[in-house]
Amino acid sequence: MIDILLLGCGGGMPMPNRFLSATLINYRGRKILVDCGEGTQVSMRISNTGFKSIDIICITHIHGDHIVGLPGLLGTIGNSGRTEPITIIGPEGIRETVEKLRVIANWLPYEINIIENPKETFKLFDDSINLDIDISVLELDHSSPCIGYCFYFKRQPKFDVEKAEKNKVPKTLWNRLQRNEKNLLLDGVLYTNDMVMGEERKGIKVSIITDTRPIENIIEFINDSDYFICEGTYGDDKDLPKAIKNKHMTFREAADLALKGNVKKLLLTHFGTAMNEPEEYLSNANEVFDKTIIGFDRYKATLNFNGD
Ligand SMILES: [Zn+2]
Ligand SMILES: [Zn+2]
Repeated sequence: MIDILLLGCGGGMPMPNRFLSATLINYRGRKILVDCGEGTQVSMRISNTGFKSIDIICITHIHGDHIVGLPGLLGTIGNSGRTEPITIIGPEGIRETVEKLRVIANWLPYEINIIENPKETFKLFDDSINLDIDISVLELDHSSPCIGYCFYFKRQPKFDVEKAEKNKVPKTLWNRLQRNEKNLLLDGVLYTNDMVMGEERKGIKVSIITDTRPIENIIEFINDSDYFICEGTYGDDKDLPKAIKNKHMTFREAADLALKGNVKKLLLTHFGTAMNEPEEYLSNANEVFDKTIIGFDRYKATLNFNGD
């Protein structure tokens, strides 16, 4: 089960009812934060998410509305008693930006690992924090280097008794191999967990695309996502010229990506400051892709491995 919490759905500047870009993904009690705009900490506080278990912070790009909340949040995570390292992933320039922001968050009791501008095929798997997740990135088309993220949460295969017996794996090792210990040596024989586990099962794919024009590469990148979170800076079709000029998208363009990418659900976010009621423009998206949801601060979705 994966929980997605939209902490802030605004673009540009924070509004009374909208904080800036930030999405929190919770998987087995560990957390991934995507973007950290102004107000992220407040929204987390309102939601009682806790701060200590954020393991990975993915930054899409270095525009204020996506990163200004970072130094404050890093300090708060430090105050929460965290000592395990945190990984920050971001586009070109992220290392220098984080180092500069740390002038005001320089006493942190944990290390920060920075992954700058990872390649398209970048994957992250970290046994030590028990996150069985692949992270892929895609270069987007915005006014600053910007990357989209795709998270694939793998589903544990089932324990296969017949297979374990056929491979003559001693019963005393079954439990440990099932709990994901990969190799165990007993009486000089090596037993691996694929000797007891069944076929790989379909996982959950979550994609986040903001800020960008709707480039062709996005369609393949988000293909078959269970959940697609996408910017919708402009709701009104008439604002298309502005979307083109400012390298953003309209609701209709985001919905078109959702349709072509064959995703299950589209959650729109990153609403421009001129749009008071994004709901007014929902039909522009729904005409193209009818499983569109208009996001709001602290909108929450739960995704299950059985596809619900
Ligand atoms: Zn933005
Ligand atoms: Zn931007």
